[in-house]
Amino acid sequence: MSKKKVVPRCHECGLGQVRPAARAGRRIRYKTIELEVPKHVEIPTCDQCGAEWMDRATARAIDQALEPRYRESLRALWAEIIQKITAQTSMRRVEQALGLSEGYLSKVTNGRSEPSAELISNLGLIAQDVEPRLREIDGLWRRGGARAGKRMRSEAKGAAGRRRAAAA
Ligand SMILES: [Zn+2]
Repeated sequence: MSKKKVVPRCHECGLGQVRPAARAGRRIRYKTIELEVPKHVEIPTCDQCGAEWMDRATARAIDQALEPRYRESLRALWAEIIQKITAQTSMRRVEQALGLSEGYLSKVTNGRSEPSAELISNLGLIAQDVEPRLREIDGLWRRGGARAGKRMRSEAKGAAGRRRAAAA
């Protein structure tokens, strides 16, 4: 007895049949970056309207294919941004501004640690205008220090008041 495979009909156009299809030029946003799905990856696609019907297995295959490309793209961005920044300031200066441990930026640059999209976006903004941006960040931390000082003073006053109340 042969098992006949049912080809599902497209819910988009109601005409076509949805079959696995592989082709070049399909771009999707993977995490933060739009990337091309490798042409060998099959996605259930309507043969009439071209609608793509993602299922769990396809999504997993796409993730597996795109993760290394994504990392590669992050690395390329990293190299470009770090080059821009270090042409104008030291890595240490940037590490201090961003609260990173000493040597972290070179660790990533040398491939011993993976850069996060979050850190790359911060560095990308800094690279646009290195010294002014770093000064803005310094200013932010100074404001944090001033606020903490104020809070501690008012807390100390409160504690003194409580002590007076307890002594009375
Ligand atoms: Zn269709």
